[in-house]
Amino acid sequence: MTLLAALTETPDERPDAIRVAGRAVSGDRLLASAAAVADEVRGLDRVAVEATASLETVVGVVGALLAGVTVVPVPPDAGPMERDHILRDCAAAALLTPDGRPADWADLPAVPTSLDRRSASRPPEPDAGDPALILYTSGTTGLPKGALISRRAIAACLDGLAEAWAWTPDDLLVHGLPLHHVHGLVLGTLGPLRVGGRIDHVGRPRPAAYAAAGGTLYFGVPTVWSRIAAEPAAARALRTARLLVSGSAALPGAVFDGLRRLTSHQVVERYGMTETLITVSARADGPRAAGTVGVPLPGVETRLVDEHGGPVPADGVAMGELLVRGPTLFGGYLNRPDADAASRYDDGWFRTGDIATIGPDGRHRIVGRASTDLIKSGGYRIGAGEVEEALLAHPGVREAAVVGTPHDDLGQQVTAYVVGDGVTAAELIDFVARMLAAHKRPRRVHLVDQLPRNALGKIQKTRLGIGG
Ligand code: ATP
Ligand code: MG
Repeated sequence: MTLLAALTETPDERPDAIRVAGRAVSGDRLLASAAAVADEVRGLDRVAVEATASLETVVGVVGALLAGVTVVPVPPDAGPMERDHILRDCAAAALLTPDGRPADWADLPAVPTSLDRRSASRPPEPDAGDPALILYTSGTTGLPKGALISRRAIAACLDGLAEAWAWTPDDLLVHGLPLHHVHGLVLGTLGPLRVGGRIDHVGRPRPAAYAAAGGTLYFGVPTVWSRIAAEPAAARALRTARLLVSGSAALPGAVFDGLRRLTSHQVVERYGMTETLITVSARADGPRAAGTVGVPLPGVETRLVDEHGGPVPADGVAMGELLVRGPTLFGGYLNRPDADAASRYDDGWFRTGDIATIGPDGRHRIVGRASTDLIKSGGYRIGAGEVEEALLAHPGVREAAVVGTPHDDLGQQVTAYVVGDGVTAAELIDFVARMLAAHKRPRRVHLVDQLPRNALGKIQKTRLGIGG
């Protein structure tokens, strides 16, 4: 089966099959426009596309994929530094733009992705093999790294998710995710084009837009779910959905509980990375609980190792670095042999850099990143997420990020950054002390106006004044 099987083999003729930011087309029309792009880019090595939330972005990506050309999505809101980094790093031969006019920020020939063009021929889709996409990591811990992702890896990931989530052509997928990451592009766009079913990309992911879409399957990052949970009327409209899915960062327990109350759904949480695509997920027919991201997808293996590479038991308590292996892994980083070497473990295992526990039932819990979320204080290892959850349980706390900062005696001390409403640091330290063991209580709490976040809403802890 080819990568975009549903689109190329049985294109959806409904005029609203693919809707992005208010404009819709049928699968037929998308395919014809994409074929025109394919005719123009065929033979090139790589092309970049400015990944605005628009139908033209989808046309451009599909066109390049049809031609067997690697696509590099450039974040539309990237600052000049990030954009230059990506363009220089990926060495694209052309830039796909809606009107075919060159962008003032890229010294590249432009190819139009307009919906008014048609190609007489429907090119046969190339199968498996080469890199389909170069996706840049989110840049949460440093400069974004380009990951080479093959057609085979994408297909394996989407088939695994279709099985785990019982995703079918009857589904209407709704989301408002950026189109330059795994979440919005691979799952949220290529997903329905492979599996079948309609897409409604609502543009900006506002709660009211999610509520009005009438979908069966909803994707969101935790900040979106948190906003929806805070608007009961919007949340209640999602009762008629089949599945609500969260990923890209940890979903706070309070949001999981709030959505359960308002929608009667238990959110399905899934875990993945640009480098591995999605590897672990709760299942549509399986147990779900706040704080767990489910079980490995079909064909994926996982295990935990300690700092010396020794095995860590899957007892639901012991923490270790999560290693993953399977068909969804990337082919390597672009121009980053250092990062490549650091991420490769023996026998095809990949080092995620995330700390996790695995229960006897196979359920995974992500504690956080080894580099920023594991605090070593007075001989204890403390997961920042647990302290963040405790802080978020206080009604006066809107957002919280916990990090380890240097301390003479303890090595590191637990330090919290909080966006709050009329709370004091002393009050919060007291509140956490009543909920958690003494060594987990923050020693310092900074009340701030906002936390540094990237395009997916992930908190960039390295910008809170700690090391990477
Ligand atoms: P960079 O690698 O550039 O620092 P990044 O790691 O945020 O950025 P991504 O590849 O987009 O870039 O994100 C993968 C990371 O997101 C994972 O390693 C993990 O830390 C986090 N993550 C993804 N899903 C979840 C989840 N369900 N729960 C907790 N963390 C998650
Ligand atoms: Mg990463």
